[in-house]
Amino acid sequence: MPLAPIQTETRPRTGRKPAPAPGDPTLAEKALAIHARLCPVYGCPIPYFHSLDPVSELISSLLSHRTRNAESGRAFKALRARFPDWEAVIDAEVPEIEAAIAGVTWPELKAPRIRDVLRALRDRCGSLDLAFLADMEVEAARDWLQAIPGIGPKTSAAVLSFSTLRMPALPVDSHHHRVAQRLGLIGPRVDVGPSHVILRAQLPADWSAQDLYDNHEILMLHGQKVCHHRNPACGRCVLVDLCPSANGGAGESSTRS
Ligand code: SF4
Repeated sequence: MPLAPIQTETRPRTGRKPAPAPGDPTLAEKALAIHARLCPVYGCPIPYFHSLDPVSELISSLLSHRTRNAESGRAFKALRARFPDWEAVIDAEVPEIEAAIAGVTWPELKAPRIRDVLRALRDRCGSLDLAFLADMEVEAARDWLQAIPGIGPKTSAAVLSFSTLRMPALPVDSHHHRVAQRLGLIGPRVDVGPSHVILRAQLPADWSAQDLYDNHEILMLHGQKVCHHRNPACGRCVLVDLCPSANGGAGESSTRS
């Protein structure tokens, strides 16, 4: 039975202002200037926060949607403690999975989704091993993952970037998205899903996995520490002269995290 959508970033919008063209040179310059300003503030290169294998990172990412890191981390550990391996999750009853991840948002949707995604992976690969993605181009690897129902742009990029694959992909979370929108890197109506290709195209094609990881982390951290969802602290923001939304300016977006 198809699952209800959790990842709103993939939802198409119609009849709205077009997004900036991918590869816009002006926005590419601006994206680089923002990166250069924020890197010293947040200490690039930023250490990776996970060293999970790709399948484990996939589960972690599916748990994390609209959920605080501490709660999704607890749920991930609880799943690991409850089941001997991810194969066992495929054969588990949904209520048992749901009980283990009860602390996350929408456990009743995420439990069957996790089981079904794992099942689809095993059906396609013959085992739960995604190491072969390392031999693919990033976009091909993302397409492969996103062909599985329940895996959207953010999850596919997280698997490639955050896992031990360490591939050059750019995840965009809600903080990253909000800051990019306020800075005018993406239009006010561009959702998280479509923002992935736009924001990636603004950065150099030859950037390493660490460069792209840093870019994601510094924009996410800036959203958490300065450019808050409510009451952004523009008075102590190093980007204020680059930002059309500064101090409630015309570019201020109504995005929600
Ligand atoms: S100037 Fe204000 S709105 Fe713009 S990025 Fe900084 S904190 Fe956010």
